[in-house]
Amino acid sequence: SAAADKPGLTLLIAAPRGFCAGVDRAIEIVERALDRYGAPVYVRHEIVHNRFVVDGLKAKGAIFVEELDEVPDGAPVVFSAHGVPKSVPAEAQRRGLDYLDATCPLVSKVHRQAERQIEANRHILFIGHRGHPEVIGTMGQVQPGEMTLVETVADVARLDFPPEKALSFLTQTTLSVDDTAKIVSAIKTKFPNIVAPKAEDICYATSNRQAAVKEIAPASDLVLVIGSPNSSNSLRLVEVAQRCGTTARLIQRADEIEQSWLNGVGTLGLTAGASAPEKLVREVVDLLSQWRTVEEHTLVSAVEKMVFKLPRQLTE
Ligand code: SF4
Repeated sequence: SAAADKPGLTLLIAAPRGFCAGVDRAIEIVERALDRYGAPVYVRHEIVHNRFVVDGLKAKGAIFVEELDEVPDGAPVVFSAHGVPKSVPAEAQRRGLDYLDATCPLVSKVHRQAERQIEANRHILFIGHRGHPEVIGTMGQVQPGEMTLVETVADVARLDFPPEKALSFLTQTTLSVDDTAKIVSAIKTKFPNIVAPKAEDICYATSNRQAAVKEIAPASDLVLVIGSPNSSNSLRLVEVAQRCGTTARLIQRADEIEQSWLNGVGTLGLTAGASAPEKLVREVVDLLSQWRTVEEHTLVSAVEKMVFKLPRQLTE
C-alpha cells in the first residue's frame, strides 16, 4: 500500500510545551468576560501572542486594540497577559471603564518587586527585551529614570553607576535561562552589592520549555517550534535548539512547513511556545503523517501542575 511506502520519521515531542497557566487564565478571562458581558469585549493588545488564539476570540466577539483610547466608554476591556504600565488601569479608572486584568500573576509578582525596590530606594536594572509589552508594562510600574533596561552583557559594561549606588535587578519572565545567567553574572561582578530577586523571575513555564527542548534537540535533525514571531518565549526555544547544534525553525501553523525541509531528516523534534495551543501541535503531526510513517515519542522532562485563580469579578 501507499502507506507502507512512506519513509519513516521519528518524532520527538517535548513536554512540557504549549500553554502555560498564565496563558490558560488569560484566554479564560476573555471567554468568561464574553459570557458575562456579551460581545463585544475589548482586549488591549493581543491577549497572548498567538494569531490562532486571537482569531478564535475575535470570532466570539472580542475586539483587539492597542491602546485604551480605542475602547468606547462603557465597554468592558481586558488587559493582556503581558501586563500593563500603571498608567493604563489608572486611565481605565478615570474613564470609569469596567476592566479585567489578565496580567499573568508571575508578571504581577515582578511588578510588586519593582515597587518594593523603589520603596527601599534602590535603582533597578531590568533585564529584558526592549519594546516587548511585558518590558513596557514592568518599566511602567515605576517613575521614568528609576529603572534601567539591560539587554546584553555589553549593556552591563556600559553602565556607569558609582560603586556606592544602591541597586537591585529584576528580569522579564520569558528570557533565555542561559543568556540571563551570563548577564546576571556580569552584573554581580560589576556591582557586588546589588540586591538580587528573592526567586528567579524567569517563570517556571519558560525554564521548563527550554529544558525540554534541550532534551529533544541533540537527537533531532530538525526542530520545529510552534509559536508566533512576536512570542518571546517561542523565539528563545528556537535559539536553545540552535545552540544544541540543530537546525530549528519557528512556524505559526502546519501549512508553513515545506516538504523539502524534511529532506535527510530521520528524527524531527517538535515543541510549542507557551502561547501556542495543542491543537496546532496535532495539526503538525497530522501533516507530517501524510508524508511519512511517523513514530511518535513524547519526552517528558517535567510535569506542571500550576493553575492560577481567575479575577474575583469573574468568579463571584
Ligand atoms: Fe505567566 Fe510564564 Fe506563561 Fe508568561 S510564560 S504567562 S509569565 S506562566
